[in-house]
Amino acid sequence: MQLRSSTLTPTPELRIDVDPFTVRLNFHGDLDFFLRTDARGGTIKRSLSEKTSVKDVIESCGVPHTEIDLILVNKQPVDFGHAIASEADIELYPVGAKPPRFKEKHLQVTTVGRFVVDGHLGKLARDLRLLGFDVAYDPQAEDRQLLRVMERENRALLTRDRRLLMHAVVKTGYCPRSQNAEEQTIEVIHRFDLLGSFAPFTRCLRCNAPLRKVSKGEIIEMLEPLTKIYYEQFRRCTGCGQIYWPGSHFSKLQKRLEQIRTSCS
Ligand SMILES: [Zn+2]
Repeated sequence: MQLRSSTLTPTPELRIDVDPFTVRLNFHGDLDFFLRTDARGGTIKRSLSEKTSVKDVIESCGVPHTEIDLILVNKQPVDFGHAIASEADIELYPVGAKPPRFKEKHLQVTTVGRFVVDGHLGKLARDLRLLGFDVAYDPQAEDRQLLRVMERENRALLTRDRRLLMHAVVKTGYCPRSQNAEEQTIEVIHRFDLLGSFAPFTRCLRCNAPLRKVSKGEIIEMLEPLTKIYYEQFRRCTGCGQIYWPGSHFSKLQKRLEQIRTSCS
């Protein structure tokens, strides 16, 4: 795909041939997750014969730049555009696992409350909406659309497609390690420091629009006979019109919410 192949192409000014040299990369914390099994826990060597951005060197090992919060090249902090043109030792750290003296250095934004979620992560999208977060989600969305929504609406991209995260336009993103939806939700809560920002039952699970409280009189015509009798409190989606009330469905969601809260603490 044209879109993706552009991610690893060095910018023209960096394409200067130099004598071949070797760089050594050490990935810390849980960045091992992205490495080939035989490369985990050790030093990865890369032979280069042209000046290359540190972003491209990192991503040639399979690790998207969105996962790196600190880069030390020969012990000095650098950003992703830093050009490597000679032998170097490169240390890479994820968010939340940096040496104490670099605690204030961040390549990543850590607090984000707006997301665009890959079509394969529907349960994660639903969980985040349940917690009140603004989540753009379209199960049919193609890569291009995800990137467009991310840029236009200033959202963090959540996907397990690491090649998509490697695209240069992705400023903030995250690849959930787990394949389990609940664990993915916990990961995202920790990664983006969301624990203090929950606002459950304020957003529509179907369309993401905010819910507003409505009186029973406003919607009574739309209720099933038993719902009319047993419930007094209702919320309605300002987007699609879906009505929510504390019925059996609501208590299932409440349970889900409690599970998430317990797992986070
Ligand atoms: Zn809705």
